[in-house]
Amino acid sequence: MCEFCLKHGEGKRWYLQAKNYSDDLLSDVRRRKFIERFFTNVEALEEDVEQLNRLEKAPAVLRGMIKRVITRRMKRDHFGQVVPIEDVEQIFNFVNSIIRVACICRHITLGEEKRYCYGISLSPSGGKLGQIFRGLDKSFLNGPDTQGIEAVSGDVALSDFRAHEREGLCHTVWTFQAPFIGGICNCDRADCLAMRSTVTESVPVMFRAEYVAALDRDLCTGCRECMRVCQFGALTYSASNAKASIDRRWCYGCGICRSVCKKDAIKLEERREVPVTANLW
Ligand code: SF4
Ligand code: SF4
Repeated sequence: MCEFCLKHGEGKRWYLQAKNYSDDLLSDVRRRKFIERFFTNVEALEEDVEQLNRLEKAPAVLRGMIKRVITRRMKRDHFGQVVPIEDVEQIFNFVNSIIRVACICRHITLGEEKRYCYGISLSPSGGKLGQIFRGLDKSFLNGPDTQGIEAVSGDVALSDFRAHEREGLCHTVWTFQAPFIGGICNCDRADCLAMRSTVTESVPVMFRAEYVAALDRDLCTGCRECMRVCQFGALTYSASNAKASIDRRWCYGCGICRSVCKKDAIKLEERREVPVTANLW
């Protein structure tokens, strides 16, 4: 179990606990202000990108110290976890409203509106989270032509997520000041700041999934489709036996490789039950 499951989930998956999505948590004015600033203060996110760029040039000791400070701050304010599609489905089954919004990361990295992010709430019509989103200036991302926010059903959202999975995007849940969970997104390493920070720069701002992939070599035909979509460098190919294999120490348990394997050679197992990954988050 990750640290948040112990702290915020009473030993169960923290992101499957309805109380962590509750409107009551948005009675906290500081949390509401944090969410408003998050979506309107694009300059602060751009500064985070600059900070990551500067970090690469810092001396090793200082770099280690700064990384720990950033991770600690993010665990308080905005931390995520990779979730496979079956857990996304469970979340969509108990939330009562889902709103699709443009991704703020892609706004910064691509300068384009990409609608990969979803606000989720237990309350119909988005409850207090919906009020916050509706109160934001509609041009908060890409100017007056932005599509703003769209309410979608669980079925539509799940179908979107399945389509994004086929594109190779991995799913993640996000806190806005833990333990409140207000967002679920579709990420990739090139454009998503959290993945860049966690995987490329080794500054963790999200946990690995509660799962890890396992590959059945007898079923694998070596087509390498799985390698094409793994964003974490966990899959390799052996030319000598024409099979793929997974280095589970690098696996984030997203399950994206599983969805493209036509031979059903990949499944997910509980991370905590695999000795080599049980303590890797
Ligand atoms: S996609 Fe499946 S069959 Fe193809 S290399 Fe990967 S595990 Fe093997
Ligand atoms: S090997 Fe692990 S990290 Fe890579 S795509 Fe598969 S589940 Fe995700």
